[in-house]
Amino acid sequence: MTDGRGLCAACAHAHIVTSARGSAFVMCGLSRTDERFAKYPRLPVLACVGFEASRPPREAQGHQR
Ligand code: SF4
Repeated sequence: MTDGRGLCAACAHAHIVTSARGSAFVMCGLSRTDERFAKYPRLPVLACVGFEASRPPREAQGHQR
């Protein structure tokens, strides 16, 4: 999914928080343990050392040699 969130849109550490007014924000899970990361990063995040793909490519089914 690509949208205004940049890398956060595909990051395993991103948590979507929706306000009472319906606005959606990204909360960075790494911010809880690492002060380098903002709790609510300014979007779009274009480069991030903490990025971790939330949907890694499916592993090949079975083992191939
Ligand atoms: S680690 Fe980086 S890319 Fe992932 S949610 Fe936090 S700010 Fe976004």
